[in-house]
Amino acid sequence: MKVTKSEFVVSAVGPAQYPDDALPEIALAGRSNVGKSSLINRLISRKNLARASATPGKTQQLNYYRVNDDLYFVDFPGYGYAKVSKAQRAQFGVMIEKYLLNREELKLVLLVVDMRHPPSKDDISMYEWLQHYDRPVCVVATKADKIPKTKWPKHIKIVKETLGFKPYHSLVMFSSETGLGKDELWEVIESRIGA
Ligand code: GDP
Repeated sequence: MKVTKSEFVVSAVGPAQYPDDALPEIALAGRSNVGKSSLINRLISRKNLARASATPGKTQQLNYYRVNDDLYFVDFPGYGYAKVSKAQRAQFGVMIEKYLLNREELKLVLLVVDMRHPPSKDDISMYEWLQHYDRPVCVVATKADKIPKTKWPKHIKIVKETLGFKPYHSLVMFSSETGLGKDELWEVIESRIGA
């Protein structure tokens, strides 16, 4: 996709703040620090539009970024951040769960994992949950540039095995540093939104 315009729209704390213009939405889930903001910035060719907050656990919001007049990226709060209270976590869970289950505009969830390590328990739960409710998902294995090319197949194998990856889903290897996977990921996104 040729991105001519991108802007931050809103940090939504609930459905009342979700945009109401019916554009398709692509959500990003993953643990804190996995590289979601960098991935968004790379996809839209901006250095710093999406920014991870300094204390990731404190942003219990869905951050909406609008791309052209085509779609929104919806950045979820990173999970697995220890300093979030139980109550906050429960509330966040309910909000995300409702969004994932009910949001008609949601066309695809990008589950972002760190390619260097086996996916975490939280990654696995998220993937299983999405499958259980039959939500469209694409796994993005990022930070590929941090691994020598010769080891990519081994790492991808571990990511797939650990997640219990289903072959009917897409998996894209990505690097926000080099731009690897950018075109491929846009193709997956475009095919989901019918662009
Ligand atoms: P977020 O919390 O998921 O939004 O993570 P960020 O996008 O803020 O990234 C966390 C850290 O990982 C930052 O220091 C990024 O520069 C770094 N990072 C993210 N993606 C990549 C990547 O593909 N390659 C490398 N080498 N570093 C990355």
